[in-house]
Amino acid sequence: MKTKKFFLAAATLATGALVLSGCSGNGGGGGDAGGEGDGGLIGVAMPTQSSERWIQDGNAVKEALEAEGYTVDLQYAEDDIPTQVSQIENMITKGAEALIVASIDGTTLSEVLQDAADADIPVIAYDRLIRDTENVDYYATFDNFLVGQQQARSVLNGLGLTDLEGEPLADAPAGPFNIELFAGSLDDNNAFFFWEGAMEEFQPLIDDGTLVVQSGQTDIEQAATLRWDGETAQSRMENILTADYSDGTQVDAVLSPYDGISRGIISALTDAGYSTGEEWPVISGQDAEVDSVKAILSGEQYATIFKDTRELAAVAADMAVALLNGEEPEVNDTETYENGVKVVPSYLLDPVPVVADNVESSLVDSGYWTAEELGL
Ligand code: BGC
Repeated sequence: MKTKKFFLAAATLATGALVLSGCSGNGGGGGDAGGEGDGGLIGVAMPTQSSERWIQDGNAVKEALEAEGYTVDLQYAEDDIPTQVSQIENMITKGAEALIVASIDGTTLSEVLQDAADADIPVIAYDRLIRDTENVDYYATFDNFLVGQQQARSVLNGLGLTDLEGEPLADAPAGPFNIELFAGSLDDNNAFFFWEGAMEEFQPLIDDGTLVVQSGQTDIEQAATLRWDGETAQSRMENILTADYSDGTQVDAVLSPYDGISRGIISALTDAGYSTGEEWPVISGQDAEVDSVKAILSGEQYATIFKDTRELAAVAADMAVALLNGEEPEVNDTETYENGVKVVPSYLLDPVPVVADNVESSLVDSGYWTAEELGL
C-alpha cells in the first residue's frame, strides 16, 4: 500500500522539483519572493565534510541564498554533536533570521532549537528530520522510503531477478543468493526509512528462500553503522566474512545504504580475496559520490542512488526565503514525517537509481559531474 503511494508521490514530484529549482536558479526565489533578500543572515548547519555530498549541499544552499541577497553562515560539525549545537547557538547569537539544519543526531537539538523559537527564528530540517521538538517548521528531503526500495531493487537487478523498478524478469535465476545487509546510523531518521523501504522488497524473497542472510543479522540494530562510517562497515563485513563465509560459501550481494559504507564493504571483500568479475557480489549505494560512480564504471559497485543536492538546496533555500517574506513555503507531503511531537510539513524530491548504463544520462547530462571528473 505504502509502495503505491510513494510511487505516485515520486512521479508527481519530479515536475514540482524542476519548477522549484528553476525558480531558484534564476534568482527569482520561492513564489513571489522576487529576490528581495535584505542581506540578513541565514545559518546553515551541515553534519560533516568527510562525505562529498554534504560539501555539495552546503555550497549549493549558500549559493542559492546568496543569489537571493542573503548572507550565509555555513558551518560543518565534523559529526560531533556538541560542535553542531554550539555552531547553531552561535548562529542565533549572531542574529540569524532563519536556520537550515542537516542534523548529526536528529534527537539532540531540542534545547538549542527552543532558543531559536524564543528568538522567533524559523527552522528548516535539511535532508534529515529533526526529532523530538515542535520547533522545526519545515522539512526538505527526498522520498526516503523510495530510496530504500530503489537500493533493494538495484541489488535484485544486479542478481538478475528484477528490473530497476522491481518488476520480476522473465529469465530470472532461481537462486538462492547469499546476501548481507547494512543499515545507516540509528540516530538518523533516514536510516529507518531506507531500511524499511529495502526490507519491503527483500522480505518476501527472504521468506521464500530466494535470498539467504547467512549471518542471520536481519534486524536494523544488527545491521546499523554508527555515523555512516565506512571503517565501521568494513570491520563488520570482515567479521561476517570470517564467521559465516570462511568455509568457501560466497556472498552474492550486499545491501549498502551509502557510498562510503559501500567502499568499506568493497575493501573487506578485496582483503578476503574476492576479485571483480563473475564471483564479485552486487553492492548498492547512495549519493553518487565520484569515487563510487567510478567504482560502478569499473564493476566494483553495482549501483548508487542519485539525489540531486542542487534541487534539495533550491527547495530548502526557497522555503527559507518564503518564510522570511511572510509566505507559506510549498510542500507536497503533510503526513509522512512525524518527528515524535508533530508531523513536519515536507517537500519530498525524487531519487534516481544509477547503474553503469545510465551514469552518463543521469549524472553527466544533468551537469552533476563532468565526464572528466568521472574519468569518462
Ligand atoms: C542521507 C544520505 C547519506 C547519509 C550519510 C543520510 O541522512 O540522506 O544521502 O548517504 O545520510 O551521509
